[in-house]
Amino acid sequence: MSIAIDRDRCLACGVCEEYCVLDNIRVQVPPCRAACPININPQAYCTLLAMDRPDDALEMIYKDAPFPRLLGYVCHAPCEGECSRRLVDEPVAIKELKRFLVDHAAHPADPVNVGWPTGRRVAIIGAGPAGMMAAVSLRQMGHEVTIYDSLHEAGGMALVGIPRFHLPEAARKADTALLDRIGVAQKYGTTVGTDIGFADLRKRYDAVLLAVGTHVEERLNIEGEQGAGVLDGLSFLRAVNLDKEIEVGRKVLVIGGGNVAVDSARVALRLGARDVQIVCLEKRDEMPAFRSEVREAVEEGITLNCTWGPESILLEKGNLAGVECTRCISVWGSGGTFQPTFDINQRLTLSADTLIVAIGQSPDVAFLADGNARDIFKGNALWVNTFTMETRLKGLFAAGDMVSGPSSVVEAMASGRKAAVSIDRYVRGQNMTLEPIREARQLLAGEVDLTRARRYPRAVMHQIDMKTRKNSFALINTGYDKATAQQEADRCMRCAKAMEYYNECWYCLPCEIECPTEALRLEIPFLVS
Ligand SMILES: Cc1cc2nc3c(=O)[nH]c(=O)nc-3n(C[C@H](O)[C@H](O)[C@H](O)COP(=O)(O)OP(=O)(O)OC[C@H]3O[C@@H](n4cnc5c(N)ncnc54)[C@H](O)[C@@H]3O)c2cc1C
Ligand code: SF4
Ligand code: SF4
Repeated sequence: MSIAIDRDRCLACGVCEEYCVLDNIRVQVPPCRAACPININPQAYCTLLAMDRPDDALEMIYKDAPFPRLLGYVCHAPCEGECSRRLVDEPVAIKELKRFLVDHAAHPADPVNVGWPTGRRVAIIGAGPAGMMAAVSLRQMGHEVTIYDSLHEAGGMALVGIPRFHLPEAARKADTALLDRIGVAQKYGTTVGTDIGFADLRKRYDAVLLAVGTHVEERLNIEGEQGAGVLDGLSFLRAVNLDKEIEVGRKVLVIGGGNVAVDSARVALRLGARDVQIVCLEKRDEMPAFRSEVREAVEEGITLNCTWGPESILLEKGNLAGVECTRCISVWGSGGTFQPTFDINQRLTLSADTLIVAIGQSPDVAFLADGNARDIFKGNALWVNTFTMETRLKGLFAAGDMVSGPSSVVEAMASGRKAAVSIDRYVRGQNMTLEPIREARQLLAGEVDLTRARRYPRAVMHQIDMKTRKNSFALINTGYDKATAQQEADRCMRCAKAMEYYNECWYCLPCEIECPTEALRLEIPFLVS
C-alpha cells in the first residue's frame, strides 16, 4: 500500500484516521498541539488560513476551544515555546493568528452541540475559565448545568483581573454568551456560603464542581499595611475593571513579581501616576509574571527593583511615605519551597504616596465549613486526585486556579475540561480512572525537516503609539491585516502528517474522499504506471 500525503496541505486533522476501516493510518500530533493544554491544532488553522480559508480555520479552533476570543487576546501561548519554527528563526505567531481569526473570520452559528439529555444535574461554583469550560463540556455530554458566581457576569479573572488594554470587554462578552446559547443556567450575584448554603447545594445536585479561583490577596503582615494609601492588587484591579472610582498618587510603588503586580503597575500608570516602580524578590528572568507583560511594563517606563524585599512601611505624620527594603539573596529553599533569605546590610529606601501589595493569591473557601467540606484541605493545600480532579469527598470536584494556584486562562480551561470528563463518568456510575483516549494514542511528529521553512521573519505585531498606550486603556495590539496574517500562517512548516500504519489496504477510498484539503492520495498499484 502507498498513501501519499502532500505535507504542505495536510492539517494533521485526523479525519483520514477516523474514516479508515482497517486502522491503516495514524495522524501525528505537531509539537505546537502537544504543548496546548486544551489540544488546539495550530497546524490545522495556520494551513487553512494560508490557503485563504479563514472561516474553516476558525471552525477548526472551535473544535477544541469554545472560548477562542479569550485565547486569541490573552493566552500566554505555550504552543509557541515548542513550535519547531523557533529552531529556524522565531516561532510562528500562533496566538496572534488566532486573534486575527476571532476578529475577522465568520464565527460558526452553533459551535457546540448539546448532548442528549441525561437527567443528571451538576452545579459549578465559579464562572471563570475553568467553570465555563467544564460547563460547556458537561452540556456536550447532555447534563443539566447550573453555574453560581458572586459577580454580575461570567469571566472570573477575565472580568475583574485582566486589564482592558489586553482584553476588551466586547471580546469577553461575545465568548461568554455561548453559555446562554447552550442552555447553561447561570446564577450571577450569588455567593455560595452567603446567598446559598454549600451543604444545600451538595444535596440538590448529583455532583458539584468547585472552580472559585484565587481571589484573596495575601498580606505582607508588616506594620502600616492597614493604613491609608495602601491597596491590595486584586481589589485595585477589580475596582478599575468594574469602573469604580479609584485614585492613585503620583508616586506608586507595587510590591510583587507576578501578573497581578505588573498589571497593577501598568494600570496605575494609566490612572495618572507619574513614577511607577515595582519591587520584587526575584531576579527579572525569574519573575512569575508572563515575560511579555514584564517587557511591555519596562517599555512603558515602569522601573523594576528586582531582588529586594519590603521590610517596613515608612510613615510621615501618619501618612504613607515609602518602603524600606532589604536585599533578597535567594527566594527558594532546598526543596523548592518559598523560603526567601535576606542580607539585612544591603538596604534600599523607596518613597511612595500609593503602595499596592500584590504578593500572591489564595482561594476564599470559608463556605466549605458548611457541610464539613473543609476536610478537602490538608493544611492549606487543597487535595484533589490529579487524575480525576475529585476531592476527598465523593461527588465533589475542583478545578482551575484554586487547585493549581494562580495560573493561566488556558490551563484553567484544561483543568475544567478534565474535571468534566470525570464528573460525566461519576454521574453515570462509571469508572472514573479510565485512561483518556487522546493521550493513549498520541503519536508525536518525528524530526522535522527544517530546510522546508520558507525564509521570512515573523510578522511584527503593530501597537498603538506609546503616548496613547500610557494614557488610556486602549487595546495595545492592533492585530494583523489579512495579507500579513496569511503570510505569517505560511511560515508554519506543517510538522505533523498522516502516516501509513499497517500494510494492508482495501483501497476503499473514504480517507482520500473525506480529506478536507485533498492532501491524501492513495496510490492504487494497478493505476500507478
Ligand atoms: C491581573 C491578572 C492578569 C492575568 N493575565 C492573564 C493573561 O494575560 N493571560 C492568561 O492566560 N492568564 C492571565 N491571568 C490568569 C487567569 O486569569 C487565571 O488563571 C484564570 O482566570 C483562572 O481561572 P479560574 O476559572 O480557575 O478562576 P477565576 O477566573 O478566578 O474564576 C473564579 C470565579 O469564582 C467566583 N467565586 C469565587 N468564590 C465564589 C463563591 N463563594 N460563590 C460564587 N462564586 C464564587 C469568582 O467570582 C470568579 O468569577 C491573569 C490573572 C490576573 C489576576
Ligand atoms: S511549524 Fe507549524 S506545525 Fe510546526 S510546531 Fe510550529 S505551528 Fe506547529
Ligand atoms: S491527510 Fe487529509 S484527512 Fe488526513 S490528517 Fe492530513 S488533512 Fe487531515
